[in-house]
Amino acid sequence: MQFHIQETMSKGLKTTVNEELDVSDLFKGRQDVYRTGPLRVSLQVTGHEGFIEADGELAIDLELACSRCLDPVKEHTIIPFSEVFKPASPSAERDENSDEEESDFIEVDAERLDLRPYVEEALQLFMPFAPLCSNDCKGLCPTCGQNLNEHKCSCSTEKIDVRFAALKDLFKE
Ligand SMILES: [Zn+2]
Ligand SMILES: [Zn+2]
Repeated sequence: MQFHIQETMSKGLKTTVNEELDVSDLFKGRQDVYRTGPLRVSLQVTGHEGFIEADGELAIDLELACSRCLDPVKEHTIIPFSEVFKPASPSAERDENSDEEESDFIEVDAERLDLRPYVEEALQLFMPFAPLCSNDCKGLCPTCGQNLNEHKCSCSTEKIDVRFAALKDLFKE
C-alpha cells in the first residue's frame, strides 16, 4: 500500500489495492473490543497531475461489547474511504487560505505515500461508539451486575419494594 508520489502522479498510474491487514494491535487494551477480523482494504488509487486519489471501501468483522450488558455484538462494518493526497507544498507557497483547503486533501511530506495509517485512522474513527446487542437491551444491574436480559435479580425488585413500602407507610399516617 505504498506509492511513490511523484511517479504515481507523473505517470498517472491507476492501481487497485486489495489487501487484508491485521489490525488487532490497534485495539489492544480496549476492553470493549473483543475481536477484530482482518481489515479488508479495496481501493482504487489513481495518480493525477498534482495529486493522488484513493477511493473505495474498507470492510471488517468486529465483535464488540454491548455498551449496556457487555454481551458480544457482532458487526460487519463497511467503511467508505475517499481521500486526496498531495505532496506537501513548500511553506513559502502557503497562503492565508491554506487552512480552509486543508480539509479537502491530505498533505504528505515524504517521497512515498503509505496508505496504511490513513486506512487505520478511518477504521478508528468509524468504530461504533456505543454498540447495543438489541435496542431494548436491559443492561446490567448496577448493584449486583446481573445481566437483566437473562433474568431479573433480587436487588431490582427489592428497590421497588422499598419504595412501595415507604409509600404504604405514608398512607397509613
Ligand atoms: Zn446488551
Ligand atoms: Zn441486582
